[in-house]
Amino acid sequence: MTSFFEEETTFFADLILPVPIPSLFTYRVPREMASLIKVGARVIVQFGQKRVITAVVAQLHTNPPVKYQAKYILELLDEQPIVTTHQLELFNWVAEYYLCNIGEVMNVALPAGLKITSQSRIQLNPEFEYEDLLTDQEHLVIEEIKKHQTLSYEEVERLLQKSNITAIIKSLVGKRAVILYEEVKERYKPKVVKKIRLTAAYTTNEALSKLAADLDKTPKQQEILLKYLSFIPVYNNPDLNHKGLDKSIFSQDNTISDASLNTLIKKGVFEQFEIFVSRFDDIPMGNMGNITLTETQEEASRQIHELFREKEVVLLHGITGSGKTEVYIELIKQVLESGSQVLFLLPEIALTTQIVIRLRKVFGEVMGIYHSKFSDNERVEVWKGILDGKFQFVVGVRSAIFLPFDNLGLIIVDEEHETSYKQHDPAPRYNARDVAVIMSYMHKGKTLLGSATPSLESYFHAQSGRYGLVEMKQRFGNAALPRFELIDTKKEKRQKQMKNEFSSVLLSHLEYNLKNKEQTILFQNRRGYSPYLQCEECNWISECANCDVSLTYHMKARELRCHYCGHKEEVPRTCPHCGSPKVKTMGYGTEKIEEEINVMYPEARVQRMDLDTTRAKNAYQQIIQDFEEGGIDILVGTQMVSKGLDFDNVSVVGIFDADRIIHFPEFRASERAFQMLTQVSGRAGRRADKPGKVLIQTANPSQPLLEKIINNDYEGMYADEIAEREKFNYPPFTRLIKVTVKHVDEGTSNRAAKVLAEKLTAHLGSSRVLGPQPPLVERVRNQFLFDILIKLEREKINFKAAKSFIQEKVIDILTDKTLKSIQVIIDVDCL
Ligand SMILES: [Zn+2]
Ligand SMILES: [Zn+2]
Repeated sequence: MTSFFEEETTFFADLILPVPIPSLFTYRVPREMASLIKVGARVIVQFGQKRVITAVVAQLHTNPPVKYQAKYILELLDEQPIVTTHQLELFNWVAEYYLCNIGEVMNVALPAGLKITSQSRIQLNPEFEYEDLLTDQEHLVIEEIKKHQTLSYEEVERLLQKSNITAIIKSLVGKRAVILYEEVKERYKPKVVKKIRLTAAYTTNEALSKLAADLDKTPKQQEILLKYLSFIPVYNNPDLNHKGLDKSIFSQDNTISDASLNTLIKKGVFEQFEIFVSRFDDIPMGNMGNITLTETQEEASRQIHELFREKEVVLLHGITGSGKTEVYIELIKQVLESGSQVLFLLPEIALTTQIVIRLRKVFGEVMGIYHSKFSDNERVEVWKGILDGKFQFVVGVRSAIFLPFDNLGLIIVDEEHETSYKQHDPAPRYNARDVAVIMSYMHKGKTLLGSATPSLESYFHAQSGRYGLVEMKQRFGNAALPRFELIDTKKEKRQKQMKNEFSSVLLSHLEYNLKNKEQTILFQNRRGYSPYLQCEECNWISECANCDVSLTYHMKARELRCHYCGHKEEVPRTCPHCGSPKVKTMGYGTEKIEEEINVMYPEARVQRMDLDTTRAKNAYQQIIQDFEEGGIDILVGTQMVSKGLDFDNVSVVGIFDADRIIHFPEFRASERAFQMLTQVSGRAGRRADKPGKVLIQTANPSQPLLEKIINNDYEGMYADEIAEREKFNYPPFTRLIKVTVKHVDEGTSNRAAKVLAEKLTAHLGSSRVLGPQPPLVERVRNQFLFDILIKLEREKINFKAAKSFIQEKVIDILTDKTLKSIQVIIDVDCL
């Protein structure tokens, strides 16, 4: 027993705060909280002068901080941890690996609904007595507070019909009339359904008969009772009553008045209650339906199992249409049956489509979905559902990697080559595929990477034996591979057969398809109408005022837009430079292709799918649905059309501008071009009796990469590329870190970048440090950019030590007083 005079132990908590500070912050645990607080729980603390923020407990101990006086924790939000120890371990790893703060990781990890907002409110000061001192408006506020106990700032604004009330509030505080305080609100609200049921007294047959007879005099009330009994036959089975009936069933019925129902509730016949329901009930469900694997799939599944005995990671390389999904489903089932959790990662866009509905049909209620287009509430529901064991299986986008799993048996990363797994801004600049591998390792689970066109990195690891490799080289069922045709646009131009951007070959296919009611996909990886405007007289080009890029012409919106900073301006009627009216659109984007088809084939039903047409919440699904149902003849789109969609009736895929994709000035261009063009080609029809056709327009049909693409020769592409990478020291032989220096003044930016590059070179050597050089777009949002690229060999160098060296040098630059307001961004494993 603790003696009254004995001093009790004081506890301190190291907290992760959602602010960009490099370390944890120590707060003092109030005595009454000491027995309740746990690592992983959320608390509310004051940070700085006024801010109240949510933090997560990372550690509990008894050592007071040395350099500052610890403030008290204000409130404990969770009795049970909301962040698991596995997560804390992962957050630490991510912060350390990607050179950012753990607070930044937590900020990305926690859905906004789990963070707290605080709202300032005012209440009456109980000691206030000098009412005579108040002005009329102040009187009004005080009277209102007396009515409602407290008021928010917004309520005061509404009351006084003023948008700026700070002066009045200040005056009221000064006169000691009111007290300000912060009210903390949880943003997450569970979805509630109101229900009614009979009270216990009326659940016997006897009581019910008597009640029904009594209600003869009030037929409206009687009708409600009968309606209730028609849904819930309590007569036969009193146990049914406790589940009750949705109240909305009565409110939707026009013949029933709310007043009658309320009277019955008042009389004690019915009682009202509320239940929490899931927000995911509208997606069709099934339960563990059986699927049958083909021989190829069976074999792949068997191999994966075998490889998992000795490898942590297996790469499933299955060509488009080979039926990887069935293999995944089989595997997921087995892991779930063994009692472990499964995470299935998909690229953002693929998540809204067919595959999710398919998985839901198989896995039903145990499957949660985590998507950035979902509301905060929905995301919190998934988070909590995992914690309390409701969701054993989650399908999600890259940030799903941060969900509170405690027993992951398997992570599947589908389309693992996709660049959307990498977060560019803000920090943490993580790659979810790579984090998945680490996370599986922490959980002692396994990772399965899947792709028709694996990233060079993953294939390299598979070749070197670090990962297991399983190949599926046949299309599912009797599906055939598409046939390719390369169209020489140079030749067609010489022979004057081209109609604007359309070759005669492509046009004849389009016409055939329109006549025969078959569908076509046209791929142009550039949105807008045309990438720039040019004056024919003086060669003036439309450029962004804030960035060094041309402004894209958007015809429908009648605007010039910058795709880097969002700047918009009106289309000039004459050249702003020389006044000539001969201002022409140059080059072409999806919008122009769509328009030209409309002109050439006015009867064709054309739809465009790019960032501009899919901004609205359901726009993307709507287009896909229309296309599936045959309401669209020609779908024109950017690479969005290549993601995870299977259409039966597409007999032609036309690809514009393959050359620009292949010759993009970037070391990964060939790999990307192979991936992009193969994926989009994979959308061509799969019917065995009628294989689809892919038409590629190019000025140079004999380029080796095109040959690899049309022969589906991934290994050939890999062999060429990997030799290049080795020769020039690029990934996967090295790890790349990009350091970007930004400043509004070009000279300052350049100087800082040079100083930094020199410091880095001095220690790392000039072969490892490239630059500084301006990136492709040198100025964005009025900031001048300089990139320094650091290549670190995988084997020879201590990666961790090299990174902390780089970080140190970056801090030198950031704290250099002669380089005011310089910004430096470090991107580890940049793409
Ligand atoms: Zn711009
Ligand atoms: Zn001009």
